[in-house]
Amino acid sequence: MRKKIVVGNWKMNLLRDEGVLLVKNILKSKFNDKINVVLAPSFLHLYKVSKMTSSFKNITTSAQDCSSSTSNSLTGGVSVEMISSCGVKFVIIGHSERRSNFNETNIQLQAKVNMAISNKLNVIFCCGENIEKRKNKSYFDFLKNQITEGIFHLNAKQFSNVVIAYEPIWAIGSGNTASSFQAQEVHEFIRDLIKIRYNETVASNTSILYGGSCNNINAKELFSQKDIDGGLIGGASLSADNFVSIINSF
Ligand code: PEP
Repeated sequence: MRKKIVVGNWKMNLLRDEGVLLVKNILKSKFNDKINVVLAPSFLHLYKVSKMTSSFKNITTSAQDCSSSTSNSLTGGVSVEMISSCGVKFVIIGHSERRSNFNETNIQLQAKVNMAISNKLNVIFCCGENIEKRKNKSYFDFLKNQITEGIFHLNAKQFSNVVIAYEPIWAIGSGNTASSFQAQEVHEFIRDLIKIRYNETVASNTSILYGGSCNNINAKELFSQKDIDGGLIGGASLSADNFVSIINSF
């Protein structure tokens, strides 16, 4: 059975002490321990947060990016081996902010996915259309292409380590979340693509998360949709109360 997952993507937020305090507050809150919680702080916080959460069986950590390279001569790069060595289990690949600010292409993302999977990291693969593609109704083709080029080269065993996050760009950080109908429509479409590429079992075992202004008010309705298995949470993951309330929305 597929997992319910809530990921907190801290992006480039929180100083060191603020990050530690946020984790302490999350850990002392009461939350549904059937949900898998993944914290994705910056690289600078990652080791500390992994240590703090290591004794909690349903809480783990994620990097926000990784290098696709194995070369040591890459100033500023962070390899998948380094990430794994900190006890981290996931890496987010293909977030729209990296696609747009760092010009990451589907083919480059495919290389990152390969690097992560071959080093036993689970991948949270992001896809999502911009507002123009939503308005001119080309978003299904666009998402199909992002997913096909980014992750459908994997075999079924490799693919079992992938979580997909549907994050419409127009909803990220805008307060303008997708309606539960809009999100469910795309999640069902993605699950059908997985069924066609792999099979029914793989499709029903894949967790597909929604991201884009998901908060403690709208999470319940979004998470009640049959193909929405949780959320990738940006802004609202920076408050322990809001984040825990989202986790408890299932
Ligand atoms: C994100 O950036 O992954 C995200 C979903 O952000 P927000 O929740 O702030 O829209």
